[in-house]
Amino acid sequence: MHAARWVDLRRYALYVALTIVPVVSLGFLLARTVDTEARSAALESALQRARTIAASMESSLVDGDLSDGPEDTTERPAFNNTMPDRVHDGTLLRFRVRDVVGRVVYDTARPSAGLGVVQIDDEVVEVVEAAQADIDGDSGVLAHFTTVGADPGDVGETGLANLGAPALEVYVALRFTNETLNDIVRQDRTVIRPGETVVAGVAEMYLPYADVDARTASSIRRLVIMIAVGLTVLWLVLAGIVASVAVREKRHRAMAEQRALHDRLTGLPGRTIYADRLQAALAAGGRTGTDVALVVVDLDRFKEVNDTLGHRNGDELLCIVADRLSSALRPGDTVARLDGDEFGIVLPGARAETVETILRRLQDALVREAELGGVAVSIEASIGYAIWPIDADNAETLQQRADLALHTAKSARAAIVRYDEGIDEFDPQRLGLLAELRRAISSDELVLHYQPKVDAITHRVVAFEALVRWQHPTRGLLTPDEFIPIAESTGLIGPLTHWVVDRALGQLSEWSVTHPTLSMAVNISARNLRGDLPGWVLQRLAAHGIDPARLTLEVTETSFASDPARATVLLEELDAAGVRVSLDDFGQGYTSLGSLGHLPVSELKIDRGFVLAMSTSSEDRAIVSSVIDLGHRLGLDVVAEGVETEAVADDLRRLGCDTMQGFLFSRAVPAAQVLALFDRMPTRA
Ligand code: C2E
Ligand code: CA
Ligand code: CA
Repeated sequence: MHAARWVDLRRYALYVALTIVPVVSLGFLLARTVDTEARSAALESALQRARTIAASMESSLVDGDLSDGPEDTTERPAFNNTMPDRVHDGTLLRFRVRDVVGRVVYDTARPSAGLGVVQIDDEVVEVVEAAQADIDGDSGVLAHFTTVGADPGDVGETGLANLGAPALEVYVALRFTNETLNDIVRQDRTVIRPGETVVAGVAEMYLPYADVDARTASSIRRLVIMIAVGLTVLWLVLAGIVASVAVREKRHRAMAEQRALHDRLTGLPGRTIYADRLQAALAAGGRTGTDVALVVVDLDRFKEVNDTLGHRNGDELLCIVADRLSSALRPGDTVARLDGDEFGIVLPGARAETVETILRRLQDALVREAELGGVAVSIEASIGYAIWPIDADNAETLQQRADLALHTAKSARAAIVRYDEGIDEFDPQRLGLLAELRRAISSDELVLHYQPKVDAITHRVVAFEALVRWQHPTRGLLTPDEFIPIAESTGLIGPLTHWVVDRALGQLSEWSVTHPTLSMAVNISARNLRGDLPGWVLQRLAAHGIDPARLTLEVTETSFASDPARATVLLEELDAAGVRVSLDDFGQGYTSLGSLGHLPVSELKIDRGFVLAMSTSSEDRAIVSSVIDLGHRLGLDVVAEGVETEAVADDLRRLGCDTMQGFLFSRAVPAAQVLALFDRMPTRA
C-alpha cells in the first residue's frame, strides 16, 4: 500500500482509539446515574409507604408503653388485626415492632410469641435517638436494602415467611402523645404528662423490593441500551465526518499540488516537473548510455499578437502552441511552459543525429496558421537546443547552453540552432550568471538600493531612484551592469522589472506613512516597452494604494530607437494615467530635437558623463546649460545626475537645474539606511 495511505489509516485509527474512551466513559457514567436515580426513587416511595403504615399504627397505641408485660401487650391485638393481612396481601414481607431498647414486641413471623430478649440493634438506637431529639417533627426514619432473615437475630431461623426475599428494611419511630388529662405511669415508672409526646418504640418493616428491582432493572437495561445505541450512532457520525473531512482535505491538497506543479493556462507541467523530468532523463541516459536533448522554444513576435489582438487571443495562441508541441512529441517526452512565451522540452533517449529531424517536424507542426479572433495568424518560433552529454555534462549547464542557443537563434533569425562552442561569445562567468538569474528572481536574491534625488535649491529629498543589486550567494553583491545586460538579452528582464517595480512601490508605501509626498523612480528597459506594461503598472499602483503621480519611470532615449511608435503609445497611456516618464541618460542618444516635444515625458535626466565633466570641460558645461534651457522651454523638469562636488552643485543651481542626484548627496543605499538620510536631508513635507 502507498505510504501516505498508511499514514492516513494510522491517523484514523488513532482518532478511533482516542474518541472511543470518552464516549464509553460517558456511557458508563450515564448508566450509573440512571441506576442510582432509580434506586433512590424506589427507596423514597418505600419510605413514603412505611410512614403511612407507621402513622396508622401510632393511632392504635394505647399507653405509650410497648413493653408492658410479656403476655398482655396492650397493642398486640391491634397489630395482630392488621399486620398479618398486610403480609398476606404482599404490602409487607415482614413486620416487627420493637420497644425503645430493641426488644421485639411483635413479629408477624411469630405473632403469638411473647416479649423477646433485647437484641442490640444499632438502627433502633439510632432511630429512637433521632426521634427523641426531634420529638415534634418527623425525624427517626431509616431505610436500607437487605433480604428477609438477614438480621443477626434471625440466624438459624427457618420457616420464616419470605425468607431471603430482597427487601427494603425501614425503621420508623412510633410516637405516642398523652391526650388524657392524667399522668400515665409506665412500667419503668417514668411518667408521661398530659399533652407530652414520647417515643414508644420502633416499627421495623420489610417492604418487598423484588418486583421494584425487576422493574427498575428492566427500565435501566432499556435506558442503558438506548444510551449505548445513541452514543454508538453519535460516534459513528463523528467518525464519518472526520473521514469525509480527511478525504476532502486530501483531495484539496492533491488539487493544490497539481495546480502548483502545472501551468494554469495551458495545463502543461511547470518548472518543477520539468526540472525533475530532466534529472530523471539524465539518470536514465547514464544507465542506458543514450543522449538527452534539451530544447527551448520561444515564440517570435508573440507580444505583437498580445498587443494587437488582445490578451484573450494571446492566451489562446499559447494554448494552441502547447497543444501542437504536445501532440508532435512522443509519450516519454516532456513539454513544459517555462515563462510567458517560452517552452522547454526534454527529449530522453534521443540520438544527436535525429534531434534536428524531430525539431524540424516540431517546427512544421508549429508554424501552421492559427485563427485567432477571426484573424489568421502565422506562428513563428525560434528553437535552441543542446545535447547531453556532448554539449554539457550536467543539467544546469545543459539548460544554460540551450538558452544560449535560443538566444543565438533569435539574433541570427535562424529557426533551429544547436549549441556549439563557437557561439559561446559570452565569457563563462556571465554564462553561469544567466542560468542563476532565473533562480535569483524567484528566490529573492535581488535587493533594491535607493539613491535620493534632491531639490537643487533647498537640497531636500524629493524622490528616490530604485537601483537593483544581486546578492549572489557566492560572488557577493553584483552591480546592475553585471547582470542587467544578460537579463535584457533573454526574456528575464520581464520578471526582473516586475519584481523591481513591485518591491519599490511596496517600499514607497511604507515610507508614505511619514513622507506622504515622496516619489519613487524605477528604471525600465527598452525590452519592457511592450505588452501590457501600462495595465500592469497601474494595477500595482492601485494594489499598493499609491498615487500614479508619485511614480517616475526612467527610460533611456534608445528605448525609442527600435519601435518608436509602440513605445510612444505605451508611454502615452501611462502619462495619461498620471505616471511620470523621465528620459534617462539624455544626451547620449540621438533623439531628434523635433520629436522631443511630442514624446510623453515629464523630465529630462542629463547623462552623468556631461555632469561629471562640466567642471573641467567648457563644452560639457555648455551642453548641460543648453539641455537645462531646452527642457524648460519644453515645460520639462531637468535633473542632473552624477553630482559629486559642491562646485558642480552650485554651478547647476545657477544654471537653473531643478533636481540633482549624485554621490555628493548620497550613494544608493539599502532601505534600512534611508531613514538616516531622511534625518540628514529633510524631505519635502
Ligand atoms: P542609471 O539609471 O543611469 O543609474 C545611475 C547610476 O549612476 C547608478 O549606478 C548610480 O549608483 C550611479 N551614480 C549615482 N550618483 C553618481 C555619482 O555621483 N557619480 C557616479 N560616477 N555615479 C553615480 P548603478 O546603480 O550601478 O546602476 C547602473 C545602471 O544600471 C543604471 O544606470 C541603470 O541603467 C541600470 N539599472 C539599475 N537598476 C535597474 C533596474 O532596476 N532595472 C533596469 N532595467 N536597469 C537598472
Ligand atoms: Ca536611471
Ligand atoms: Ca542615468
